[in-house]
Amino acid sequence: MGVAGHVASYYAASANAAPALAPLHGETRAEVCVIGGGYTGLSTALHLAGRGSDVVLLEAERIGWGASGRNGGQASTGQRRPQRELERRLGEGHARLLWELGLEAVALVRELVERHRIDCDLKPGILYAGWKQRDDDYLREEAAHLGERYGYTQCRHVPAEEMRTLSGSTAFRGGLLDEGALHLHPLNYALGLAEAARRAGARMHEQSRVTGYEEGPRIRVRTAQGSVLADQLVLACNGYLGKLEPRIAGRIMPINNFMLATEPLDAATARSINPRDLAMQDSRFVINYWKLSADRRLLFGGGENYSARFPADIRSFVRPHMLAIYPALAGTRIDYGWGGTLAITLRRMPAFGKLGRNIHYALGYSGHGIPTATLAGKLLAAAIAGHGEGFDVMARIPTPAFPGGTLLRYPGMVLGLLYYALRDRL
Ligand SMILES: Cc1cc2nc3c(=O)[nH]c(=O)nc-3n(C[C@H](O)[C@H](O)[C@H](O)COP(=O)(O)OP(=O)(O)OC[C@H]3O[C@@H](n4cnc5c(N)ncnc54)[C@H](O)[C@@H]3O)c2cc1C
Repeated sequence: MGVAGHVASYYAASANAAPALAPLHGETRAEVCVIGGGYTGLSTALHLAGRGSDVVLLEAERIGWGASGRNGGQASTGQRRPQRELERRLGEGHARLLWELGLEAVALVRELVERHRIDCDLKPGILYAGWKQRDDDYLREEAAHLGERYGYTQCRHVPAEEMRTLSGSTAFRGGLLDEGALHLHPLNYALGLAEAARRAGARMHEQSRVTGYEEGPRIRVRTAQGSVLADQLVLACNGYLGKLEPRIAGRIMPINNFMLATEPLDAATARSINPRDLAMQDSRFVINYWKLSADRRLLFGGGENYSARFPADIRSFVRPHMLAIYPALAGTRIDYGWGGTLAITLRRMPAFGKLGRNIHYALGYSGHGIPTATLAGKLLAAAIAGHGEGFDVMARIPTPAFPGGTLLRYPGMVLGLLYYALRDRL
């Protein structure tokens, strides 16, 4: 077990075997070229190949090297923003379509894992934990709203006493349990999607960073050692887009988020903090999220930064967040600490769209990428095949550029983000 070429993480150490894919050498032709080997790119390649398209995917590092191989593993229902906010902002009709696509996204994750027999510890259930009374009130209202307005009966409010049993923590005033949500081993999910895409006929190359492309009726996509001449291009780079496509770079902001993995816990401790083997996340502005691994480690995500660098000691950076919820783990060894980069948008809803005649993109999932990026691949493939209805529902979500674009988005946004992070601590 374990794969090389990834950041040192619990996920890389417990990854299923994944043979290296040869870099692109020389010139090749394809109907569609996909840039990026995370969920967006892999799901696009899988669905395109399934439709009989000739597709080439180019990944700068290794498959799943980006956020898709490093995340918290939680596949939530709905969208990244609460349904009531979407109804207010976008109108009830659009919000309802987005709710339905959100359910389809989680169902698609399950369906792909089952159909392609992806070994990725897939389990049901996410528990949302509220720190403050107003968080608890909000979760209670949200559960009622989803039941009444959308007929969604798989979530329910959890009172404080039951929260103590389910989470093993006394920190929370109440919660919401969503039995329809899922959690999984994110890197093994990505590797499984890649294997399924490869079997479906997609050609995939690792260590093949795209340095640029020239637009035209056909697009010439260049790497250091080769090029692809494609009818269509899909940008699936999310937080790692960099300067590749300035026309969309200003609509996202890359941020870094961090995780740790403890040593394996003894069975009694694991049971005491998570008897139902749920994934959990809390109501902080900088969300803490956690779950158990298959070998009973606590995988805990907490803390983020907005600079080009990761903290020198990620384990010490994340650990206080874990201890605020589980002080009894003060003596527990931390075996891994790692970080990843994701893309957020100004309103925290994803940016789907088209540039010119033949470039599609989807990114900016703002921490909701397991379901949404997986679905993006299906919608991108359908849109390229001329069935853009679902894609258009997503593309209709307004995703304004950050004020000041790529140059100035940082100072103002970072001050704002730091302000809310500070409020969490008060
Ligand atoms: C620590 C952390 C925790 C998270 N937790 C959750 C969670 O619990 N639930 C959830 O739903 N989401 C979570 N997310 C977000 C989620 O991981 C992402 O939304 C999702 O993985 C995005 O997938 P993607 O394929 O669009 O991007 P990525 O997985 O980042 O893939 C982009 C790929 O593009 C490649 N690339 C970039 N530029 C080029 C180029 N020029 N040429 C070739 N290749 C290129 C990169 O190398 C990278 O592999 C988390 C993210 C992080 C970082």
